Amino acid sequence: GTASANSVRDTFVRYFREKHGHREVASSPVTPRADPSLLFVNAGMNQFKPLLLGTVDPRSEMAGYKRVVNSQKCLRAGGKHNDLEDVGRDLYHHTFFEMLGSWSFGDYFKEEACSMAWELLTQVYGIPEDQLYVTYFGGDAALRLSPDEETREIWRSIGVSPGRLLPFGLGDNFWEMGETGPCGPCTEIHYDHVRGRDASAQVNAADPEVLEIWNLVFMEYNREADGNLRPLPRRSVDTGLGLERLTAVLQGKRSNYDTDHFTPLLDAIRMGSGARCYRGLVGAADTESVDMAYRVLADHARALAVCIADGILPGMTGPQLVLRRILRRAVRFSSEVLHAPPGLLASLVPTVVETLGDVYPELTRDVTQIMDVINENEEAFMSSLVRGRRIINRTLERSSGAQTFPVDVAWSLYQNLGFPLDLISVMLEERGVRLDSAGLEQREREETESRQPGSEVTGRLSVHAIAELQRNGVPTTDDTPKYSYT
Ligand code: ATP
Ligand code: MG
Ligand code: MG
Ligand code: MG
Repeated sequence: GTASANSVRDTFVRYFREKHGHREVASSPVTPRADPSLLFVNAGMNQFKPLLLGTVDPRSEMAGYKRVVNSQKCLRAGGKHNDLEDVGRDLYHHTFFEMLGSWSFGDYFKEEACSMAWELLTQVYGIPEDQLYVTYFGGDAALRLSPDEETREIWRSIGVSPGRLLPFGLGDNFWEMGETGPCGPCTEIHYDHVRGRDASAQVNAADPEVLEIWNLVFMEYNREADGNLRPLPRRSVDTGLGLERLTAVLQGKRSNYDTDHFTPLLDAIRMGSGARCYRGLVGAADTESVDMAYRVLADHARALAVCIADGILPGMTGPQLVLRRILRRAVRFSSEVLHAPPGLLASLVPTVVETLGDVYPELTRDVTQIMDVINENEEAFMSSLVRGRRIINRTLERSSGAQTFPVDVAWSLYQNLGFPLDLISVMLEERGVRLDSAGLEQREREETESRQPGSEVTGRLSVHAIAELQRNGVPTTDDTPKYSYT
């Protein structure tokens, strides 16, 4: 295929705007507006939540929206939808991604939504029908929700064969925005990279050959704080299609990273690091995690640029803390796996802006500021990273053969050197050692209980922590940071 990432996005928007009278609405920033139930915008529908709930200010422009289309900047790195751990490991989950969306707010419902989606995929984009599967909600006895037979019949009449039409339960086919908020049964379209076979058992099975591309949600309920489902005042359609996945499908690639959303970034990483070429290997085949490092860096550079442009800076709470985790993960892969000089991560920002700046112009406002923030934060973490690496190595030497890492040491790395726990876990995994997450959770509980209310974690290596490291046989004299790292 030859369709560029930009043309794939344009075709989607134009199909709904020109053929079906949808109004194009700009992406909202990734910072949720006045919504404490979210860390980041995690779906296109977030900005329309008041419209779905029927709480929209009737004088606002949004109140008049009936049919809408857009391309939304999304982040899934914290809260209910959190894909951070998968990023770099697989080829189709990102922290930042673009969600193409179409909506009907109390206008058309299931039948039109399904026909539009099918026509766009099979007629406009030209995806062969025998590479698609469709799932629908199979009901839930405990919640007294019946199977969505109506949707099943709609797909049958569109021509989807029974063998390609599969029911799933709450986990896959009942979409919820967060712990509370709009939700409802959904029907999803999955793509099989291999043609002419029965892969129905591979749908929703974390199989890289058969992946979900489009989710059509029939918004009918609000999940209340007490867990109950309250019917919404009117029924709406909310769809979300992952642009990077769709582009990969249309460009005939198995990996999102082999599309022009990412290839300029992989090239820049190669130029800036001098590491061997990206080969696209995953899992055990990626022996030194070099390919994973490429993917993590490319992904995280996009997430950092987008968030910083929207005013989220790496910090100590909420979305800021998540961004700090993302940054530290990227810095670590850059320095320890690619052996790149400091500054590589920030140097990727102009490439991110080249690929995304036309669609999301806020990225172009102050490229230097984005780079400065990344460089300052990288610098602040580098000396901790070096110290932490030394502590990890010594601990592993002392406990060679052990399957799990001492909880106290991991806790000190986290508490005193600002190592995100997920990062420690990746660093240990490369050495065949596990982090004792149950032990760490226990430790965190004890720590929270003993902490004086109002007292703050300073990030300074405390006397207590030094004692702990020494108990574990870790020399601490030259590992003691003089500053707090935040
Ligand atoms: P998956 O099962 O693959 O994790 P999902 O069911 O969590 O996806 P939805 O919440 O239904 O995803 O979001 C709608 C669409 O957004 C998905 O069908 C997919 O194309 C895309 N998408 C979801 N999560 C990601 C991600 N982390 N990176 C890239 N695209 C994503
Ligand atoms: Mg998911
Ligand atoms: Mg899914
Ligand atoms: Mg889904």
